[in-house]
Amino acid sequence: MESPLCQLVYASQSTFASSDPKSGIDLEVGRILGQSRRNNPRLGIGGVLYYGDGHFFQVLEGPRSAVQSLYDSIRQDPRHCNSTVLSHAMIKDRVFGDWSMKYIPADPAVKAQLRQYCHGRFDPFAFDQSMIERMVNLLNRSQSLDQPEPAPSPAPASGWRKIWSWLRLPGLDRGV
Ligand code: FAD
Repeated sequence: MESPLCQLVYASQSTFASSDPKSGIDLEVGRILGQSRRNNPRLGIGGVLYYGDGHFFQVLEGPRSAVQSLYDSIRQDPRHCNSTVLSHAMIKDRVFGDWSMKYIPADPAVKAQLRQYCHGRFDPFAFDQSMIERMVNLLNRSQSLDQPEPAPSPAPASGWRKIWSWLRLPGLDRGV
């Protein structure tokens, strides 16, 4: 019998100085994503990571014991602090079924949508239950930085595309 699925949502504050993400992704966040996409598929874990205004907001979905033990190790990571569980619930279906770890950049489009919910800075510690759900839905609807575009682009890789091809691990960067 399949292990029961759970969804854990937490927020934390980064402890590193952000690099200027002209490429679309902070270098340290890129490293975290590389680790996530290498490790999560074999753990059966998927989800999404958002990073904005020095705060992480991450959703982890998968078998309950795997999610708990990954979170126990993530929370000890010195690249962030004040890790706080915002919600933790059993789920029937995954929301982020196609992603080992989707990444949503804090770009102007997402910030504009977030402004409907948050005033000023992104502060997930102040979120109530309905804000957490809205944020999860927003991240589900939003386009990942490395989401394939509908039409193939003939342009050579540049900027964040180069970084993504550097991060991409064949066969492991998508899916759970
Ligand atoms: P690493 O130090 O990355 O690597 C361990 C071993 O793997 C080493 O022997 C190394 O040589 C080898 N290795 C390194 N790179 C490669 C490669 N490209 N190919 C093959 N082998 C390689 N971690 C997750 O796993 N999932 C998450 O969802 C996740 N989310 C995070 C969210 C936040 C906000 C933060 C701060 C961290 C997160 N992390 C996540 C990172 C986590 O805290 C640990 O740092 C990470 O899980 C350690 O991975 P690792 O054991 O593979 O160690």
